Amino acid sequence: MRRTIVYHAKKHLSLIAWMLIISVTLLVGICVYLAIAPAKSGGPTATTKVVSPPVSVVANHYNIDYPIFYNTKVDSLLKDYASDQVAAFVNSLGKDRYDPRNRMTLECSLLHYGSQFATVLFIQREYVVGSAVKASNAQMTFDLKAQKKIELKDLFVSDSDAQLAIGVLLYDYLKQYAPHEFSQEQFSKLSQFTLADIQDFSFGNETLTLSVKPGVLGDKTRLVAIKRSLLDGVLKPEYGKNDKGKDIPVAASYVITERPRPANQIDPNQKMLALTFDDGPGNYTDRVLDALKRNRARGTFFVIGRQVAGRAGTVKRTVNEGNEIGNHSWNHASLPLVSREQLKHEVEDTQKVIYDVAGYTPVLMRPPYGAINPDIAVYLQTQHLQPALWNVDTEDWRYPDAQAMYDRVMQSARDGSVILLHDIHPTSVEAVERAIPELIKQGYQLVTMSQLEQYR
Ligand code: ZN
Repeated sequence: MRRTIVYHAKKHLSLIAWMLIISVTLLVGICVYLAIAPAKSGGPTATTKVVSPPVSVVANHYNIDYPIFYNTKVDSLLKDYASDQVAAFVNSLGKDRYDPRNRMTLECSLLHYGSQFATVLFIQREYVVGSAVKASNAQMTFDLKAQKKIELKDLFVSDSDAQLAIGVLLYDYLKQYAPHEFSQEQFSKLSQFTLADIQDFSFGNETLTLSVKPGVLGDKTRLVAIKRSLLDGVLKPEYGKNDKGKDIPVAASYVITERPRPANQIDPNQKMLALTFDDGPGNYTDRVLDALKRNRARGTFFVIGRQVAGRAGTVKRTVNEGNEIGNHSWNHASLPLVSREQLKHEVEDTQKVIYDVAGYTPVLMRPPYGAINPDIAVYLQTQHLQPALWNVDTEDWRYPDAQAMYDRVMQSARDGSVILLHDIHPTSVEAVERAIPELIKQGYQLVTMSQLEQYR
């Protein structure tokens, strides 16, 4: 149908008009090409040599643009999409399909075009006699190397982990940066965030931008851009990497580039305590994380710098699930006993490795053995670190007995307790697995140490 109609128009145009149209088209074509051509470095690979200007099929009924990547499978998906949209429009017209006043346009732009991924945005407008103009958008992200369209469900290692991690990130970010934009009710709805709340997504060089459905973050669709490295461990490895190329910046309502402070819903009038775990990450840390997650509780983990890189997955998971990470020095050194140079290494290298692995810079430092003096306190201040001690010492390292530890935790729990435990002892972990649900049953909110300090 497109082909037949395109030729009528030509007869009515003079040669000059045609020359004009051709030169304008060329100019526009070049502009579009420049706008979407990828940056040279890290640009297209063998499969995506060049991207052409969007192909235009102009007819008096339809004006259809779609890009060509010289990538057989992706190109045919795009072409099929455009044809399907036209067919659906024609079908919707029924017997009026021959009325030349009815029109449809499909415009496209490349939100991202890099060496591996491309996101295409289509804007479709339908003009039907007697009806208001109907406009709709669709986004498609392609893996050009794998030659396929990426669906939302393809992105994540586990859907349930992904919705928890994204929900926590959104919740914490909005609590920190837009606490008055949403009511308490909207916030509590947000803590039940699921992947079904996502309408669409797009890739940028470093970002995953989610279109969040109306009703979740206000009445309209809202765009939330999240740095993909913050979803490390949540996204499948092939989708977590940066993809250097050309981006058209999307005007996202919220741009999350740093990990926000943990901010689970806390009732300041209810009792609360902080479970803190030192000397990890270790063999049993994931069990503690599982127990916290099962019970929608949060904890604080004071990690030893030299152990972080070897257990990067656990450390990422710790923050992804809304827990707090604190600094517990690089080598578990007693800080008052080391040289200034060694002190800097103990503290600053640990900050750095945690940031490198988890994208989060701790604000709390638990000095090993609780050993601190005024000089060190001043130094920690220059590093934006606050000393974080405890008020309940379970001495779990001394008594490796799960039942005894459980009893000790339960008996010492008070509103405002900061309970010191070690996630490197299986007996402590077993005690905690039992204590967490029990403490919640007794009405305790299990919060991070920074949260506790905010309220107590
Ligand atoms: Zn320690």
